[in-house]
Amino acid sequence: MHIPKIDRCVALVKRCGLSGSFTITIGSILLGSALLPNANAEADTAYRSSISPGQWASASFPVEDFQAYTSPFGYRGGVTGGGSEFHSGLDLAAPEGSYIRNWWSGTVVQTIDDDRCGTGLVIKSGDWEHVYCHMQGYVETIDGVRTLIDRDGGILIQQGQQLPTSARIGRVGMTGRTTGPHLHWGLVYQDEWVDPATVIRAMAS
Ligand SMILES: [Zn+2]
Repeated sequence: MHIPKIDRCVALVKRCGLSGSFTITIGSILLGSALLPNANAEADTAYRSSISPGQWASASFPVEDFQAYTSPFGYRGGVTGGGSEFHSGLDLAAPEGSYIRNWWSGTVVQTIDDDRCGTGLVIKSGDWEHVYCHMQGYVETIDGVRTLIDRDGGILIQQGQQLPTSARIGRVGMTGRTTGPHLHWGLVYQDEWVDPATVIRAMAS
């Protein structure tokens, strides 16, 4: 499986020895300044020790037709004024309609339909939850079961459904708060947000 490279300092942001305000680049793209999240030290240690080389060798990169990492995980300064905002995931730009693949086998625990994430899914795999936002389609309750429907993409995902690794679970869209088609991909380990870039790097190692 091909894993697109990601800048080391973004991937291992807490290990780069940076604190306070710093400048983030991915490849040659300057993403502006960001603040490090105040990590919960205990959770961070547990998370780090949960990552071992080769652990995710069979995990799936979450989007087909990947173009670029467009926004990293962490706090970002208020470019338009105001306070900093916590970006709880990694943004992966891809053409509208690109298929999104399930990172790791698990159970759909939530179908999302809100102003921010748009149409999305939360899938639980053991201690991990993976969040997918800005997908195409909509959520409807069918026979009492919340269901993500993207007819043109041939996608129908029910809450409670079990999904294997790399299953097509939807398509990149523009739902929710977004200025361009991308997958917002979030990862939670034992109820703490973690940087998906760390995991992507581990998948490639
Ligand atoms: Zn995002």
